[in-house]
Amino acid sequence: LVSVRTLTKSYGHKVVLNRISLDIAEGEVVALIGPSGSGKSTLLRCMNHLERQDSGCVLVAGEPVGYSLKNGELHELPDRALSYQRRGIGMVFQGFNLFQHMTALENIIEGPIGVLKLPRAEVEEKARHLLDLVGLADWADHYPSQLSGGQQQRIAIARALAMRPRVMLFDEPTSALDPELVGDVLEVMRTLAGEGMTMIVVTHEIGFAREVCDRVVFMADGEIVEQGEPGQVLSAPVHERTRDFLRRIL
Ligand code: ATP
Ligand code: MG
Repeated sequence: LVSVRTLTKSYGHKVVLNRISLDIAEGEVVALIGPSGSGKSTLLRCMNHLERQDSGCVLVAGEPVGYSLKNGELHELPDRALSYQRRGIGMVFQGFNLFQHMTALENIIEGPIGVLKLPRAEVEEKARHLLDLVGLADWADHYPSQLSGGQQQRIAIARALAMRPRVMLFDEPTSALDPELVGDVLEVMRTLAGEGMTMIVVTHEIGFAREVCDRVVFMADGEIVEQGEPGQVLSAPVHERTRDFLRRIL
């Protein structure tokens, strides 16, 4: 479903992604781990064209993200076409990024009404299902400031899901949360994974990676050093760098 092909990105002279290639099947849940500065966030941001790569491409369902193909050449998509394409690629960040002046429900329905132009009644009904899915059915009319960080993050997930994405990208969705709030967010992600959502999750939650993910990808210095089944990569890593990293975080 997602295909990253020899993706390269530099900031100045620093190569942050060095010819990364990665294929993710429909329904697959991939954990992306690696030291700070290894390029995990940059890779995710290239996947929905928040960041422009220098070369290579990302395909989602066969379409190049951020570009259209005309006469064998890639042309950058205009803003409207890009936001329409992005509807299919949900993203949840470390910070909650909710609109503070909107209630939980309003945050969720804003995209489907504004971007997808779906009828309000249908969108609201779906939003209430999503609130239920993330365990916040009774919180529809609360503003973000009235919600805990964990609740806000679950609303952010519901908001992304309201766009009916084909793939969900998570960049350390729990790392800004108080420890006691982490579990509820991971539980929602576990449910999503169980429902067959294709997910790419940057995380330091090794337990989650082990139990929920189909594959663990370890990155360092802009390259994929090692990948495989969670049991193998996390318990019997082949590369010294992976062993070193795991020793430090476990
Ligand atoms: P972390 O675990 O700390 O979130 P990461 O693996 O997500 O790290 P990135 O955020 O992708 O790493 O950053 C990779 C490298 O790119 C880092 O060296 C970072 O300093 C650099 N970098 C990221 N964004 C920019 C930017 N906008 N301008 C210049 N350098 C940047
Ligand atoms: Mg990061």
